[in-house]
This record gives sequence, structure tokens and C-alpha cells, in this order.
Amino acid sequence: MLTENIWYLKMTKELKDIAAHFTKDQFTTDKAKLEKYGCDWYKGITPNAAAIIFPETEKDVLKLFKLCNQHGIRLVISGGRTGLSGGATAADQEIVLSTERLNKMHWADNSNQIICQAGVVTDTAKALASSKNRLLPIEFSSTSASTIGGNIATNAAGAKFIKYGATKKHVVGLKIIMVDGTILNLINRNEKDATGPNLMELFFGSEGVMGLIFEATLRTYELPEFKESILVKTNDLSEIHALINKERNLISAVEFMDRNCLKLLEKESEYEYEILIELESSNQDPLEQALERIATKDFDVSLLNARQLNEFWAARENLPVILADEGANKLDLCVPMSKINLFLKKIKDYDTKDLIYNFGHLGDGNIHVNILLDEDGVLADKIYRLLQDFDGSPSAEHGIGKRKTKLLKEFTNYQDKLYLLKHLKNSVDPANILGPKVFFED
Ligand SMILES: Cc1cc2nc3c(=O)[nH]c(=O)nc-3n(C[C@H](O)[C@H](O)[C@H](O)COP(=O)(O)OP(=O)(O)OC[C@H]3O[C@@H](n4cnc5c(N)ncnc54)[C@H](O)[C@@H]3O)c2cc1C
Repeated sequence: MLTENIWYLKMTKELKDIAAHFTKDQFTTDKAKLEKYGCDWYKGITPNAAAIIFPETEKDVLKLFKLCNQHGIRLVISGGRTGLSGGATAADQEIVLSTERLNKMHWADNSNQIICQAGVVTDTAKALASSKNRLLPIEFSSTSASTIGGNIATNAAGAKFIKYGATKKHVVGLKIIMVDGTILNLINRNEKDATGPNLMELFFGSEGVMGLIFEATLRTYELPEFKESILVKTNDLSEIHALINKERNLISAVEFMDRNCLKLLEKESEYEYEILIELESSNQDPLEQALERIATKDFDVSLLNARQLNEFWAARENLPVILADEGANKLDLCVPMSKINLFLKKIKDYDTKDLIYNFGHLGDGNIHVNILLDEDGVLADKIYRLLQDFDGSPSAEHGIGKRKTKLLKEFTNYQDKLYLLKHLKNSVDPANILGPKVFFED
């Protein structure tokens, strides 16, 4: 009680005004909560939030936006806080808008769609789809905590990208609350629609700077009836590239780990890479034919049973956590598919190759490069320079947030995009209330 009073006295009059418009349960400056809700998974930025607010309705959001405009207070939108780029971290006395209580959801029987508010946890939405015998294919190891709003705002991808695409592919409609209080209902009603640009795109991967994603309508998919999984061991990824291209229609995931990762998992391997390939179909025949074709290749290949498959995924999902615990500098790169083999070979030629652990979603060129003992970022810089030569992306699926603003500025190929984004941001949020220092250094 005493602590609460001290915090109240310390609050600015603007903050006190905002507090007065919400219930005690919706507004907090409690130190532990400021730390918990004030940052995401990336721990390179110290959280420094002024307060946390838990809106429960559209009206609450509108009220908060109005007050922030009046007082010139900045806001950071926060979902499940599993982001890896500091986009949901309040570093400079911003108020955090947590979507935790915006968690209503229902099923539309006639369309097999889920209509859910932003704060619905991804696994809860996936479980609703499963209960209707349908699939919501957002698959990665943090979906037990991430939210649908966060998935859309980062355009999250993951293991099933190669077959189902990133989150934006599953979005049929969005309800957005803009910072000036305008409510937008954006929907793709027709397969073909030449009525101008698809403006929902402005919010996919927008990382909390363009508006609050309040509600989304998501499409779900038929469950695949037949599945097969194989493990390929090889020293040369270019052969796998040809295989992926040939069997692309059936492939739902291609995950790889290099020898350093395997060692970390206490698995000895005589090969440089182990690759899991998952195939799915509504018919058994095409799967069997694909397996026969693969068997004729000169690979070390084995068919996995359910237990072996679970073991692979458990190990794969554990890797980022183990490497985070080891303090690895984590890069999330995308390299054009045809150049991956050479890119990784160049990295393996470095003297420091033993400090570099590579794994990721090979089917789409997304490599998670993890570097140990790289606190000063020297090795990361070297790899980013190499990446520019390979025409790659410095963020395949984790976004830019506050963490990679400086880095993105160095990538010459992205400057026109940043220029246009800045103009669009200025036009929808001229006072820069939402997500300060995300994408841009100022
Ligand atoms: C162990 C681990 C594994 C991961 N694996 C993957 C992976 O394979 N693929 C992948 O894509 N990501 C992965 N991630 C990253 C992360 O889980 C995703 O980016 C996820 O989509 C973030 O969702 P969230 O709800 O936690 O968002 P948060 O971290 O809370 O926020 C992320 C960004 O979105 C903004 N935001 C959140 N909600 C809204 C909203 N309603 N409206 C507007 N903006 C909003 C925030 O301001 C912030 O900029 C992983 C993370 C961890 C910790």
C-alpha cells in the first residue's frame, strides 16, 4: 500500500489523469508489472515503462488513444511479449497497452473462420480450429504465449511457412483502431479485387507503429490426412535445394541443424547437416511416389516414425532456448535459396566457426545464425556484411523492433522501403505516439 502511494506521488499529472480514467485493476505502475509487461523476449534493452494499461473494450482503447494525444504520451503495444526484436519493449517512459484482456473469440460455422480479438493466445485459437477438425497453421515454439495480434503485427512465419505461408495468408479481415480514434474494418471479400492496393498489408508486420490490430478474422484449413517425414543427412545443401523444388507441392516443413547444433544436443554426426522434411497430402499415393523418388537419390535418408519425429521437433524447439541461455547473439536471416549452401560454406571458413550455430527453416531460406561470445557484435557485423553481398534480408521473421533499426539503415536495398514507411507512418500518426523508435532511430 505504502509502495503504491509512493508511486502515485511520483506520477506526473498527465499520468494521474490517465489513471483516473481507468479502474484500479486496469492501470498499474507496480514495479514488478512494469518489468514484466515492459519488455519482450529480447533482453538487450532495459525496460523503462511509465505504466501498464489493460483495455478490455474498444471504448477503453479509444479513451486511451484520446488521452495520449492530449498529453503527448507515447504508447507501446504489447501482446504475448515473445517478440525477439524489442518491438514490445517500452524503453523511455512510454505507457504499455497490453492486449491481454482483449481475448474474446468465436467460430463462424458457415465459413470455418475464427473471429478473435488481438490478445487471444495463438495456441487457444489453434485449439479452437482443432476442435472443429480444422487447422490454423501458425507453428513455432512460442505459440503457447504469443498472441494473434502479435502474430499479425510481426507477420510471424515458422515451420509450416513453405506450405501455408506467413500469418498474413490466414487473415481474411482486420479491425484496426487508429491512434486518431478512427476505426477501420478492412476485409478481402473476393478472390479477385482490383479496387486499388490491398491496404491490410499496411498492418502485416507493422510492429505496433501503424495502429492497434483490435480484431482479426482468420481462415482455417483442412487437416492433411496423410503425412510422412524423412531425415536427410548431407554435407551439401544444394542437393536439398533441388529436392525441395521437385517436391514443393507436398512439402510442409524443411528444418535443418548444423553439426555444431547437433553437438550441443549431444548428438554425434558424420555429416555437416541433418534435415527434416515433412510431406503432407490428402492422398497416400503422391506421398509414396515422392518417397520412391527421394529413395533413388544419393542421400543418407531415413523414414521417421512418430517417436523419432517428436524427438526431432523437441530438440529443434529446444535449440533456441538453449542458445539463448548460453547468451548467443541471435541473427534471423533470409538468404536466397539458391545461395544458402555457399553462404553457409563461407561462414564455416571463418576461424571462429566453432562459435557459430546454424539452424532454421531451410525450405524458405530462413537461417537462424547463433553466435556465442559475440557481446561486441563483431562477428555478427561480419556476417551481416556477407549477407548484403548475398542480397539477403537481416530479418526473415522476427521483425525490426527497436533492436535492428540501426542495422536496417545499413542495408542499402531497404532504404526506399524505409522512406515510404516513414511517410505513411507520419500520415497516420503525426505525433509519433505509437511504437516510438521501432523501425526508425528517432
Ligand atoms: C522461443 C521462440 C521461438 C520463436 N520462433 C519464431 C518463429 O519460428 N517464427 C516467428 O515468426 N517468430 C518466432 N518467434 C518470435 C515471436 O514469437 C513472434 O514474433 C510472435 O508473433 C510475437 O507475438 P507476441 O504476441 O508475443 O507479440 P509481442 O512480442 O507482444 O509484440 C511483437 C510486436 O508486435 C506489436 N504488437 C503486438 N500486438 C499488437 C496489436 N494487437 N496491434 C498492433 N501491434 C501489436 C508489438 O508492439 C511489437 O512490436 C519466436 C520467439 C521465441 C521466444
